[in-house]
Amino acid sequence: MHADLVAISNLYAADRAMDALRGEHEALSSAVRGAREAVASAEASVKLNESTVATVVASQRATDRELEDYIDKKKRAQKLIDTGAGDYAAAERQVAQCASIIDQLETRALELMEQRDGAESVMASSRRELAARQAELEAVRARLAARDAPIRAELAAALEHQRAVSPELPASCRLHYDDLRRRKRVVLVNVDDGCCSVCAMRIPPQKFVEVQKDRAVHTCVGCGGYILP
Ligand SMILES: [Zn+2]
Repeated sequence: MHADLVAISNLYAADRAMDALRGEHEALSSAVRGAREAVASAEASVKLNESTVATVVASQRATDRELEDYIDKKKRAQKLIDTGAGDYAAAERQVAQCASIIDQLETRALELMEQRDGAESVMASSRRELAARQAELEAVRARLAARDAPIRAELAAALEHQRAVSPELPASCRLHYDDLRRRKRVVLVNVDDGCCSVCAMRIPPQKFVEVQKDRAVHTCVGCGGYILP
């Protein structure tokens, strides 16, 4: 391989090693951020479901109190009828009226009981969901914590290596190399059947022969990648 191409290849390997470490760290950090958002959203959902249950429970209590009131009222009216004291017809009307309201309230109490069962079951499932999201957050945090220091150490070593090989890059290649890297392009390309393996542009045979014989360094006119022998 041409000495310039060796230098490009060494620097590219060093840069890619650093890319990989940074990418790994970013993926771990991003997983933690995602898990944190999932926990926050599960917490909000638990709070909402808890408040739904509380609302139903409050309605149940109010209905129970009302029911007790009408049962008492009916008993008192019934007592008037039984003892013959007071206005018999008015007491009869009151008993009938109370009985009808008690019916409605009992139906309402049953509906509320069903609503509460439903709301409690939704709440329980949202609490399980929250516990699962919290466990997931702990797991991704542990993964990041376990790799954080090693990645930093590996990055420091990779940077040192990159600084060691970087000066070997010929000045004539520097601008083009940096440009490829900035545009996140593939720096080294193979030739398959006379075409660039990255962009499929036809590589003039003469160029490829010169690269193969280590006489020159050439780039693909399509993607700009350095042609490998
Ligand atoms: Zn190409």
